[in-house]
Amino acid sequence: MLLKDKTALVTGASLGIGRSIAQIFAREGARVLVCDVLEVEGEKTVSLIKESGGSAVFCRLDVTSSQDHENAVAKAEALFGGLDIACNNAGISGEFRRTADHTPETWAQVIDINLTGVFLGVRTQIAALLRRGGGSIVNISSILGQVGHEDLAPYVAAKHGVVGLTRTVALEYGRQGIRCNVVGPGFIKTRLIDNVPEEGQQGLAALHALGRLGETSEVAELVCWLASDRASFLTGNYYAADGGYLSR
Ligand code: NAD
Repeated sequence: MLLKDKTALVTGASLGIGRSIAQIFAREGARVLVCDVLEVEGEKTVSLIKESGGSAVFCRLDVTSSQDHENAVAKAEALFGGLDIACNNAGISGEFRRTADHTPETWAQVIDINLTGVFLGVRTQIAALLRRGGGSIVNISSILGQVGHEDLAPYVAAKHGVVGLTRTVALEYGRQGIRCNVVGPGFIKTRLIDNVPEEGQQGLAALHALGRLGETSEVAELVCWLASDRASFLTGNYYAADGGYLSR
């Protein structure tokens, strides 16, 4: 039970990697606030956790809303007495276009959710973690937080930004007991990938040293460990869960 008696908040926890993170946090003993814009799927995450004997509550949260972040933290404090762990996972891929074909609108849509959404979360969560005397934040970036990718300029820029934000938070709040790390998944089997045709999926799989796409749980296990006290000397770093993609 890595997270026994901890309270954790996960954004984008209704589906995909976020659902897995919420489930594994709960398996390890945390009370989990499942945060997302999708209510039906979020309640499904809560049901899956409860069926396995865990503790979870859904909270509607759009990561682009400061007020929603405030409400989520207040809910964690009211229901569970405080916040110990936050995982800023919500994200979208945005449209695939050459950089010169992106518009201020397609740029802003991705930056607002994938980068500003993490900033708005972190700034609210820091205050709550300080009230608790410290805690752990794990942000979700991507392998594309370390290298480029054709046709995804807003996504790549946002994911690099999350790495810089994470390192800065670690420097600023480490002495007050807050650790902040960032995880970069390789290509993982979620609906982000489901939209790619079968041939394209095989091509993506081949880019990983392990020759396959990742499972959501293979990211979530790392996130859980980084969030836990076992990782007590780890902060300000980027950890890939990428099946060797970045070794190329
Ligand atoms: P997904 O689409 O399966 O799940 C994303 C979740 O985020 C959904 O539940 C969605 O409702 C939620 N979400 C979207 N916009 C939101 C908003 N404004 N406010 C709150 N919630 C919102 O995607 P996923 O593959 O599980 O991706 C999760 C994270 O992992 C993302 O940050 C993504 O960029 C990152 N990632 C994914 C992959 C991959 O291959 N799947 C690779 C690298 C990084």
